[in-house]
Formats: sequence, structure tokens, C-alpha cells
Amino acid sequence: MTSGFKADLTGSFSTPCDDNPTVVMVEAAYRHHNMNWRYINAEVPPDGLASAVAGARAMGWRGFNLSMPHKVSIIPLLDGLGESAQLINAVNCVVRVNDQLIGENTDGKGFLSSLTPIHEPKGSHVMLLGAGGAARAIAVELILAGIADLTIVNRSLNRANELRDIAESAGNASIRIMEWKEQISVPDDVHVLVNCTSIGLGDAEATIPVASSSLRKDLIVADVIPNPPKTLFLKTAQEAGCRTIDGLGMLVGQGVLGIRYWSQMDVAPDIMRQALVDVFS
Ligand code: NDP
Repeated sequence: MTSGFKADLTGSFSTPCDDNPTVVMVEAAYRHHNMNWRYINAEVPPDGLASAVAGARAMGWRGFNLSMPHKVSIIPLLDGLGESAQLINAVNCVVRVNDQLIGENTDGKGFLSSLTPIHEPKGSHVMLLGAGGAARAIAVELILAGIADLTIVNRSLNRANELRDIAESAGNASIRIMEWKEQISVPDDVHVLVNCTSIGLGDAEATIPVASSSLRKDLIVADVIPNPPKTLFLKTAQEAGCRTIDGLGMLVGQGVLGIRYWSQMDVAPDIMRQALVDVFS
């Protein structure tokens, strides 16, 4: 019989880590499901990453998340990569499988889990604003899920072209790039519009240069920004009659997947979402 004094360890390595709310939602799930698990939000600078990973291996951690700036530099320290992580060339979730550390990417999968309850992506046309890390992860998962068309809108054409190369390696969607110089209109055949830029993070009044007259009632509008959850972009879309998806859905979706990877437990997303709403309010 075990005494129950040994917790299963998980956590996150990033810097700066103090504004990363993941610990709050993951620990809320562990508590709710009476799991004797812990999630440590660790401040790890770039030159400390290898030691942190060695420490996690030595202590038998069940897994950990990576955030800025470790999502790419973690790769040589791992024993293998899952399909999405390989395509995106970035890892945000490491899973211990026997004695091996396997890198996964749950960013895009988290987004997909917030989209699919209201829209089946297969065959759709999706327009992404932005071409950074979040856009990469979302584009790859959307293509793996079978979207037919992807439009990438970005200021820097170089970054948009890099994203196109990654997206092309994931599947057969038709891909179009639009340079973002001024206010942009959403074409009539787009089904889902996603803000994947950092515009709006910590700023509820930040405007995104998209013509509100092009937001049709049947358009689904999503924002990756988790804080504040109700961005001006989403408010404007709601006023135009669009269905909207906030960035908390993506964050919670990632949390659920991470815990499933580490423990095979399916935890309650509403408990995790409420924990985030509580800290953000
Ligand atoms: P990156 O720095 O990799 O990319 C930022 C993107 O935003 C680039 O495409 C950049 O364009 C664009 N951008 C920034 N400012 C502007 C502007 N003023 N006008 C037009 N485009 C702009 O960041 P990430 O992709 O890693 O993260 C983006 C956001 O996604 C962050 O706010 C992050 O919080 C959020 N996120 C949310 C998650 C969730 O679970 N909800 C998960 C992961 C990220 P350019 O290339 O031209 O510079």
C-alpha cells in the first residue's frame, strides 16, 4: 500500500514566467479531480534550459510545458517529436513516455478543440491574421483537419512565406498570402477569421485593421488573445452578428490536452476556464 506522499510532477519552463496563468488552470483541474499532481511554474533562462530538462528527467517529471523563449531550443534536448511538433518545428508540451521525453505541440490542437464544437473545419476557407508561432500551430492543425483554403495576412511577407512553406508540408490546402499594409477586407468566401497576432494582448481597446463592414453574420471570428478574453476585435465581430471564439478556449484546450498526454485523464474544461476567468477579472 502506498502512503500517498509522493506527488506526480509537471510544470512549465519559460522566462518571464510570472505572468503565465497556466499554473492556475492546471492546478484547478488537479484539485477538482483529486489528483495528487503538482504543476510548477518555473523561471528558466535560455542558458538554464538544458539543466532544467536534466532535472525534470532525474526527478521523473511526467511532463512539462514550454513557453517563450524555449519552444524551438528545446528540440535537441528531446528524444523524439510528435507529428505536429515536427511540422511546426516548435514544442510547447513535453511528455514522458517510459524513459523518453517526447515533444508535442498543443497550441493549434487547443485552438481546434475550441472551434470544432461550433464549426467543422473540413473543406472550409480560413483566414489567419498574423504569421508567428500561434499562426503556424493553428495553420498546421487546420490543414491536418482538412481545410480546403488558407489565406495568410501578415505585415512581413517573409514570415508569411515561411508559414506557407510549413503549411504546404502539412497537406493539400490551397494557400494564398495577402500583405497587410492597410485596413483589410475579409473576402466573402471566408468561413473562419482568426486573429493570430499579438494585437490586443493586455489592451482591451487595441484595434485590428480589418474593415468591420466585411464581417458578415455567417462568419466565425476567433481571437487567440487570452487576456483580456473579450477583445475589441471580438466585441466588434459580435456587434456585426458573427459567432465568436475567445482565446481562453485555446488556452483551456491546450491544458486539457497536456493533462491527457501526461496522465491519460480527461479533465473538466469548465473548471479550468473558470479558474482563468477568476484570475483575469
Ligand atoms: P509572434 O511574435 O511569433 O507573432 C506575432 C504576430 O503578430 C506576427 O505575425 C506579427 O507580424 C503580428 N503583429 C504584431 N503586431 C502587429 C501589428 N501592430 N500589426 C499587424 N501585425 C502585428 O507571437 P505568437 O504567434 O507566439 O503569439 C501571438 C499571440 O498569440 C500572443 O499574444 C499570445 O499571447 C497569443 N497566444 C495565445 C495562445 C492561447 O492559448 N490563447 C497560445 C499561444 C499564443 P509581423 O510578422 O509582421 O511582425
